[in-house]
Amino acid sequence: MPSNQAALHCPLCKQIDSVYKVSALYDHGFSTETYQRLVPPPPGTSWAPLLKTEERTVQSQLSRKLSPPPRPQPSDIRIPLVALFIVVAIPFLCIAGDSRGGFVAIIPVLVIGGLMNWWGLSYMKKEKEKVANLMPSWEMAMLLWRSLYYCIRDDIVFNPPNGSYSSASQMQTHFFR
Ligand SMILES: [Zn+2]
Repeated sequence: MPSNQAALHCPLCKQIDSVYKVSALYDHGFSTETYQRLVPPPPGTSWAPLLKTEERTVQSQLSRKLSPPPRPQPSDIRIPLVALFIVVAIPFLCIAGDSRGGFVAIIPVLVIGGLMNWWGLSYMKKEKEKVANLMPSWEMAMLLWRSLYYCIRDDIVFNPPNGSYSSASQMQTHFFR
């Protein structure tokens, strides 16, 4: 037996018959299932509800457990920032609409909007830099993930070169943190 194959033996049961590549099991865990949904009739009609057949992608529990380390993502603050701006701007806009010469009250809104926009842009720039710094270690983690194997018999994930292993549900914390 070639030595690289010998390394693929499960570190617990020492067998090879139930050992599969983690990335392959992850990929095969996705399937499409059809389901039926009742669509209510348009309001004001007496039509019967329509039975519609739709498709959705489902992921098996095992595939979910064996998911790759999550790719670093910049946190997007645009929506919370716009919401905050609206909350801050409303009182000023009410004053502007209420009083004569209320145009002056719009100036703080413009200033706050400008400051928030500037702050939001610099925040997003920092987030992008943070993600760029995390990418090399994520790529290393992906390399490791692609080299991991899973034993169905013992529900463990292991790294053949050094025999390090953990239960499938602990894979993320054991190998990637
Ligand atoms: Zn085993």
